[in-house]
Amino acid sequence: MGIVVQKYGGTSLGSLEKIKYVANRVVDRYRLGDKVVVVVSAMAGQTDSLIDLAKDITKSPDPREMDVLVSTGEQVSVALLAMAIKELGVPARSFLAHQIGLKTDSSHTKARILDIDVRLINKALDAGEIAVVAGFQGVTEDKDITTLGRGGSDTSAVALTSVLGADICEIYTDVDGVYTADPSICSNARRLDKISYDEMLEMASLGAKVLQIRSVEFAKKYNVPVLVKSTFKEGTGTLVTKEDVTMESAVVSGVTYDKNEAKITLLGVPDRPGVAATIFTPLAEENINVDMIIQNISADGKYADLSFTVTMSDYERAMAIVKKKGELLGASDILGDIKIAKISIIGAGMRSHAGIAAKMFGALSKEGINIQMISTSEIKVSCVIDEKYIELGTRVLHDVFNLGKQGDAIV
Ligand code: ADP
Ligand code: ASP
Ligand code: MG
Repeated sequence: MGIVVQKYGGTSLGSLEKIKYVANRVVDRYRLGDKVVVVVSAMAGQTDSLIDLAKDITKSPDPREMDVLVSTGEQVSVALLAMAIKELGVPARSFLAHQIGLKTDSSHTKARILDIDVRLINKALDAGEIAVVAGFQGVTEDKDITTLGRGGSDTSAVALTSVLGADICEIYTDVDGVYTADPSICSNARRLDKISYDEMLEMASLGAKVLQIRSVEFAKKYNVPVLVKSTFKEGTGTLVTKEDVTMESAVVSGVTYDKNEAKITLLGVPDRPGVAATIFTPLAEENINVDMIIQNISADGKYADLSFTVTMSDYERAMAIVKKKGELLGASDILGDIKIAKISIIGAGMRSHAGIAAKMFGALSKEGINIQMISTSEIKVSCVIDEKYIELGTRVLHDVFNLGKQGDAIV
């Protein structure tokens, strides 16, 4: 009798009907004779509504209190799902993070998991109960409530799979797998049967929210296979696993976009050692992640313009820091732009192919899309563009790299 870990996202739990439907699925699996652990997110839209409540009170909510607030969404869904399972005549027990010792560091709103004590879950499983675990939440050494960042239930599920010694983590969502591009904006996107941890890591980091980045990092580190499937439709899904010879060796295997970034630019800062450190050290101290960075030196070599991107949720805090430091440095102007987006192509095959970036730039320019920033790694190329072109850009890149379903017209 094996342990099965299933995670259901908010979109799969968006109404009481859906919760009852999920309860039936879980019970079907239980009746096959497996021990079942279910990790759940908040009901669809709940986390956003809770964040909006906080924002109505203050522009920059205290991160500790924010975690106390947003973690409640999962408390509602574990209780409702456990009740729905019991209604079907099967014993179930809900667990919150503090009850399973899901310890994290104290980086509120983006905490990292340090440890999980699975004794209570195992006790429930041994007693024949289905364990229904709240995703997304954790607790610090000092008993403060934390959350794992948006989409964090995926990470809760992968971590539990690892510590419980289950073979695979099943992620149930509203799409039937990982696609070559977001199927909600790219109608000819194609489902991938398998994808490597590295490619999935890039796709998640670059905006494919189907899996949280940390969940893929965790899966890669502890070698946990992750199967992404639809809650509502039968199918084989997409297996996220180690790179192997049976994987498609496409040069580009996916296109992603991320509207969740903002750009900050400092104009005319002195070009001397220590300027970048003056800006980026206080940002790091505030736990603000900086993504792309571009610096341009003026022709006379005296001044530099510095642009970088941060996630939207860090934008206000980052801007406040940059304004303070920029004034000290004598910057001639400080600009913010929240109407940008990042578009990226990802593929392990890029390692051995030249000219991929040029093909991407050419395709964007043909549509009149201006590239504001560029960054590359071994297996990805990203461009910052005006947000309004994001859907067009995704479709164009999807076509130019022949990612569409077979038989579809290729531009
Ligand atoms: P859940 O509520 O189950 O956690 P999410 O909304 O977090 O679901 O993630 C699923 C969504 O991810 C899909 O509805 C889809 O629009 C989006 N998505 C973005 N990029 C991709 C991709 N490449 N493949 C599949 N889904 C994607
Ligand atoms: N409810 C949280 C969110 O909306 C966590 C999750 O869905 O995984 O981000
Ligand atoms: Mg999600």
